[in-house]
Amino acid sequence: MSMCAVCRRATQPGLHACPRHTAELRAWLAELPGQARLLEDEFLAPAAAPAQGRIGGTGRATAPVPVDLRVVTLLGPGHADILGADDDGTVPILAWLGAWAGYIAYTYPAVTRDPYGTAHVQPCDQAWPRHYETTAGYCVWLTRYLPYAAAHPWVGDLHRQLEALVDRVRDLTHTVPHRHPKAAPCPECDAFALAAVDGQEGITCAACGHHLTHADYEEHANTVLAMLAERQQAS
Ligand SMILES: [Zn+2]
Ligand SMILES: [Zn+2]
Repeated sequence: MSMCAVCRRATQPGLHACPRHTAELRAWLAELPGQARLLEDEFLAPAAAPAQGRIGGTGRATAPVPVDLRVVTLLGPGHADILGADDDGTVPILAWLGAWAGYIAYTYPAVTRDPYGTAHVQPCDQAWPRHYETTAGYCVWLTRYLPYAAAHPWVGDLHRQLEALVDRVRDLTHTVPHRHPKAAPCPECDAFALAAVDGQEGITCAACGHHLTHADYEEHANTVLAMLAERQQAS
């Protein structure tokens, strides 16, 4: 039996992350680039370009621009230990993303066949996101490799660390993506937990991770409405 590395519930054979926790990872990866931009805009811009009026003028020494060191650390260079490590509050976003992309690219098996038709499995060089070494680029790349990550026990590390990182950034930006709850219950688990979240595609169930497009949801909601109407008429 396979088990989700996050919630320890049974999951599809061969998978180590349940749909709900895979959806959570996808949501955080979608959120992170916007959060990083907020950090840059709100915290680093004033330090890079001091307000004009403050220079010269009164002849008084300019007060030092308050720069939050936690922000500088998050946006700075550096390196990240990812396997089995926990967020100690000093891991920079880009270094963390790069370390995971590198790890996944290295473990991702590329199957090549030699002239005799024998298959050889070796680390996949091509997987390395050379052209995307930005927060947004890494997040897109990692999202694409989520199905691969979900098939490995270390997806639990990925989940735990990304949760800590996103929490740390939200804490500084005071921004949590806005949720728009939906009226119809989840077609998969019946929970009233469907919501669209700003910055994310489609609609996701917070209870089971089931994902629908907006069009699928409209169709589902109409079916539910029709069922309710029928039931009301019958009673
Ligand atoms: Zn789970
Ligand atoms: Zn559900």
